[in-house]
Amino acid sequence: MTVQAFRPASSIAVCGAGMAGLALATLLARRGYRPVVFEARNEEACRTEGAFVTLAPNGLSALRALGADRRTVNAGLATRAVELCNHHGRNLGLVDWTGDGSDGIADSVTIGRGTLIGILIDAARLAGVELHYDTRLTAVSESEANVTLSFEGSAPLTFDMVAAADGLGSAVRAAVFPDLPTPRYTGLVGTGGVGFVPDVPSTGGVMRMTFGRRAYFGYQKEGNGPVYWFNSYPLAERDLAPVADPVVYMAFLRSLHESDPDPIPCILAAVPAMERYYPINDLPPLATWHTRRVVLLGDAAHAVAPHAGQGASMALEDAVVLAACLDDATKPVAAFKRFEFLRKARTRTVMEVARRSGARKLANGPVSIFLRDLLLPFVLPLGARQARRIAAFRVDQAPLALPA
Ligand SMILES: Cc1cc2nc3c(=O)[nH]c(=O)nc-3n(C[C@H](O)[C@H](O)[C@H](O)COP(=O)(O)OP(=O)(O)OC[C@H]3O[C@@H](n4cnc5c(N)ncnc54)[C@H](O)[C@@H]3O)c2cc1C
Repeated sequence: MTVQAFRPASSIAVCGAGMAGLALATLLARRGYRPVVFEARNEEACRTEGAFVTLAPNGLSALRALGADRRTVNAGLATRAVELCNHHGRNLGLVDWTGDGSDGIADSVTIGRGTLIGILIDAARLAGVELHYDTRLTAVSESEANVTLSFEGSAPLTFDMVAAADGLGSAVRAAVFPDLPTPRYTGLVGTGGVGFVPDVPSTGGVMRMTFGRRAYFGYQKEGNGPVYWFNSYPLAERDLAPVADPVVYMAFLRSLHESDPDPIPCILAAVPAMERYYPINDLPPLATWHTRRVVLLGDAAHAVAPHAGQGASMALEDAVVLAACLDDATKPVAAFKRFEFLRKARTRTVMEVARRSGARKLANGPVSIFLRDLLLPFVLPLGARQARRIAAFRVDQAPLALPA
């Protein structure tokens, strides 16, 4: 029996209108809550910032719980596999994590991050979610009875509970759990973009990734559509700084890949400037994700480095599971406890996968590159099996099941 004793009277604040926050607020609004979302950026920035994300079949299943899967598939690129190559362009193996299509989900989808955020904003508005942009949370104070949130430039507000979906650098996490570990820089930064480069041949549904001589590069193109590309390269922490000149920085990116196989130089030649790069961080496992009235989800709870292609999917799965837990509990804390139990092992597995694959990108020097090229074809089938297992979970069908 579903008991919703606390639901009608409860007020919920969702901090952060990224993937986790928008998805959670939409699902809660459809269940009769009246969630209020606070987002630090303006709406236009949210709809345009970032390059692209890949949603594995499990992430699409989470979007299906929101009714947003079809729009996402139509706006993105079907990605059926990842091919890995070395700096000579030699194939090292293929990771295929596709579903069998029996449940209507066959491939992964690569989609502009802003496009997906736009789809989620539309779904939230349709569900009646109250969205406040340009509203940066600065402090959190929790009492026995409620939680008070403070904001930059506006008056404090009090809620019965708070869902912190404010990403890797979560202000809520820092305020509520000052003793928990903070994100650490992995030693890699990433850039990327989406643009038309007519001379580049189609990759036939495959994201082609290359361990280049000095940097890692991935791209996909279908038909006459745009090229989706990204790269990552090692950068010492002391050298992390905002891009001073986007044209000069782009010339540097081109130089990183100048002796890599075609069409990598050709893709980069078509990009005139790059405004910024993203340091790649991860978050050590957190001992706890919740208090009595505050719960962390998405990157705020378990930032997954992008190397596993699962960060967005994990955030969306979290939202579906947390909404179901809240629906099925008599007290917020019981829902939060169950949510943490259901999500912790799975997100740790994915974080480990991401860490292992990030470490391969840091290989430099002839010996480690030789060993990587030698061993990868043997290790890859195991990695592919694990990726398929992770992608096989269908959270829309069984949100309260413990995933494998
Ligand atoms: C601008 C941006 C660009 C990104 N680009 C890429 C990309 O190109 N490729 C990729 O794979 N991943 C990218 N990511 C990361 C990826 O989207 C997330 O890892 C993943 O989707 C997890 O989602 P999330 O909802 O947990 O966190 P996020 O998507 O990080 O969302 C967190 C949200 O909280 C907001 N926020 C943060 N602090 C506060 C505060 N104090 N008050 C109110 N709101 C706050 C942020 O502005 C953001 O909208 C990007 C993230 C961001 C924020």
